[in-house]
Amino acid sequence: MTTSERMDYPGNIFVVAAPSGAGKSSLVKALMELDSAVQPSVSHTTRSPRGQEKHGREYFFASPTEFDALIAADGFVEWAHVHGHRYGTSKRAIEERIAQGADVILEIDFQGALQIRKTFANAVMIFILPPSWEELRSRLERRGEDSASVIELRLKNAAEEMARAGEFDFVIINELFERALFDLKAIVHAQRLRYSAQRRARADTFAALNIP
Ligand code: GDP
Ligand code: ADP
Ligand code: 5GP
Repeated sequence: MTTSERMDYPGNIFVVAAPSGAGKSSLVKALMELDSAVQPSVSHTTRSPRGQEKHGREYFFASPTEFDALIAADGFVEWAHVHGHRYGTSKRAIEERIAQGADVILEIDFQGALQIRKTFANAVMIFILPPSWEELRSRLERRGEDSASVIELRLKNAAEEMARAGEFDFVIINELFERALFDLKAIVHAQRLRYSAQRRARADTFAALNIP
């Protein structure tokens, strides 16, 4: 399928990247609770599930062999090594949803995010920044999900990731959570007001107004 054919899908693709601990998962979860038209792209990962995580909900948890098989079957739009594990977005996770008109949101690392844009040229790229290094570290510690050495690795990777924020369309600084959520909602809302989206969603109004 060519890029231009893909661009005809009715749904939007939102790609959200951030250094680990910036609040990406919390913001995306809150957005989806408020807006049922935004649905997650469930990624595959070779890391183990954390406490409450469920196969098929947060991730499809795959063994390295299963992951290799999906690569071989050309099942991924993108995949990347992140923090010592592999993560990937399956084609199925995106295409089924946007073809039906849903908006799909991808919470993925910046390497994968930039790959998505190559396939889906009109994907909306959003980068989330923490307000400071101190706050990023304290959120990773407070989350209590990662060991001290994993936290150090994630902080080290964060500098490299944040240096690429300029390649994204939008930046949200997640200082006050409610403010950051408002910003995220505003970006989603603005996409739905684009000419092409309105033309599709409100075809009857355009027709009644005799707009060619
Ligand atoms: P279940 O996981 O046993 O419930 O089986 P499903 O029939 O619902 O399929 C989910 C499985 O399909 C996941 O565990 C993935 O391994 C696999 N899967 C998800 N997306 C893709 C894709 O894009 N391509 C391929 N080949 N497999 C996929
Ligand atoms: P990511 O998905 O980017 O790794 P999380 O969403 O897991 O980050 O957030 C990391 C931690 O920071 C979580 O414990 C979360 O509750 C907390 N957090 C998220 N946003 C804020 C915020 N604006 N202020 C304070 N804590 C936050
Ligand atoms: P976590 O293990 O904290 O859930 O995620 C670690 C990192 O992997 C995050 O930066 C997250 O965005 C990224 N990630 C999750 N799913 C994917 C994916 O499908 N593709 C890529 N490239 N990165 C992903």
